[in-house]
Amino acid sequence: MAGEGSLRRKAVALFSGGLDSSLAILIVMRQGIEVTAVTFLNHFGCNIGDRSSCSANPFPTAEKFGFKVKLCHLSDKFLEIVKNPKFGHGKNMNPCIDCRILMLKEAKEMMDMIGADFLITGEVLGQRPMSQRRDTFPVIDREAGVEGYVLRPLSAKLLKKTIPEEKGIVNRDLLYDFRGRSRKPQMALAREFGLTDYASPAGGCLLTDPNYSYRLKDLLTHNPDPGFNDIELLRLGRHFRPSHECKIIVGRNREENLQILSLADRNDIRLKVEGFGSPITLIRGKVTHETINLAASLCARYSDARYLPSVDVTVFVGDKRFTMKAHPASDPVIERYRIEKKHPEAMAV
Ligand code: SF4
Repeated sequence: MAGEGSLRRKAVALFSGGLDSSLAILIVMRQGIEVTAVTFLNHFGCNIGDRSSCSANPFPTAEKFGFKVKLCHLSDKFLEIVKNPKFGHGKNMNPCIDCRILMLKEAKEMMDMIGADFLITGEVLGQRPMSQRRDTFPVIDREAGVEGYVLRPLSAKLLKKTIPEEKGIVNRDLLYDFRGRSRKPQMALAREFGLTDYASPAGGCLLTDPNYSYRLKDLLTHNPDPGFNDIELLRLGRHFRPSHECKIIVGRNREENLQILSLADRNDIRLKVEGFGSPITLIRGKVTHETINLAASLCARYSDARYLPSVDVTVFVGDKRFTMKAHPASDPVIERYRIEKKHPEAMAV
């Protein structure tokens, strides 16, 4: 933490590129405090380049208002808390409380490294049911070892005074008392700052998605120590599980086919229907004749030849290839093997 005699006060901010974290930074910068923002990445977030409002420059706010952004991938540390969160998962596989704790711990390291005085987040009291509650903020701060050092400028007036406020580094009168899910006050404040270009609210990472979470749970059940590549594949295609040691992934469009191919490793078997529009179909894991037959029938089913009784499917194994006949898979076969969260009515059958 910066010495009392430092000339300019500094803070480290958790920054997603969205409205709330941008505003939190601007509120603090307006008090003459230098802010270094840090954006945390994990296996389950959107890719920075995907941010709809800012594809050319991921952080237009930083450029416009003149603060630095550092990127930090949480990598295996994040995967560990997904597998085993101390504070449990949310509705799906999202370990939001542990996630906030981890981010604050990492941010604290940066705070100590650059001699900053405190941390900033764009959290708003009551905005998210799990991690943004009055009783969870102190738990998160304590667990991260940053009690008293986390300023939440958008809701600060509703929360206990922080150390930077006590010390007079930050003027509490210039902070806000926003609460709840309405974003109207933030939008009004954004207009005041001239803040127009920010990422739209994402509603959480992929772990908040029920279907994605279901796939991840399946992966962790059958492979408790998955590689980055296995996790990347979860975003793509339709997934099928013929056995404990094996899964089949079928691309849904050309873009996914290319991505699946780029993620395929040399042990994966690839299939496609010749002469028709075809998905790339990937078999990963222990392969049997039955698995290849199933993969070929799934590949045929999702190809443009799905109405034919029998289809030629090419199978690529390493540098070798062969062609086999397959019948497009029926609905019951798809239903039986697909890794998919079933609707309660379907499960009751
Ligand atoms: S939604 Fe995902 S990234 Fe956001 S706090 Fe929860 S676990 Fe972390």
